[in-house]
Amino acid sequence: MGSFRFGLEFFERLEKVDGAIAAAVAAGGCRHCQGPLHWGNYLRKPRGGLIAGGGEGSRVRHSLCCGRRGCRKRCLPPSLRFFGRRVYLEAVVVWASVMALLRRCLGEAAESAGVPLRTLRRWASWWRNIFPATATWSELRGRFVPPVPEESELPLSLLQRLESTCESGGARDPTCEAMVLAARHLGPLTTASVTDATRFVRAGFWVGGAE
Ligand SMILES: [Zn+2]
Repeated sequence: MGSFRFGLEFFERLEKVDGAIAAAVAAGGCRHCQGPLHWGNYLRKPRGGLIAGGGEGSRVRHSLCCGRRGCRKRCLPPSLRFFGRRVYLEAVVVWASVMALLRRCLGEAAESAGVPLRTLRRWASWWRNIFPATATWSELRGRFVPPVPEESELPLSLLQRLESTCESGGARDPTCEAMVLAARHLGPLTTASVTDATRFVRAGFWVGGAE
């Protein structure tokens, strides 16, 4: 796995996918009352650290709001760029965590990613203790042809698996494609207000290493 920098182009691509996902969610209507969903996008101020500065300009968080009086519930579509409320872009959370596992050193990875050590430590604990217990991972792990990516090595094991699948699929830049796929797979974790988020983040897409 080589070094990788996430430029503007990478985030423009993810933003386009985010827009398409949001449009598909909007078309489905409000899940509480079937009312129409209206756009209520807002701006975020994501951080890219030293590896994804190009993403800091990608600020639009797609958001929807029910138009029916008495409901007006907000609906946040899954995103490939924003990882829940974390201030760092999803790509940074994944890549810096991958680097920490590859180098077996949190300090070095924190420095080269431009992320505080305590933040990277918190992410490491999340990947080790929280993520493997999520419904998103349990659904995803069931899709892989065994052996399933090693849980104690997430997200490195997941990215390596996706990368090798992209490689054998003839991708020009397998690392980049693996990062996009990883973002799709992790997408359902980026929202709590769309229950069947998996359907939207994978719509029409090949899963990688599965099926
Ligand atoms: Zn509604």
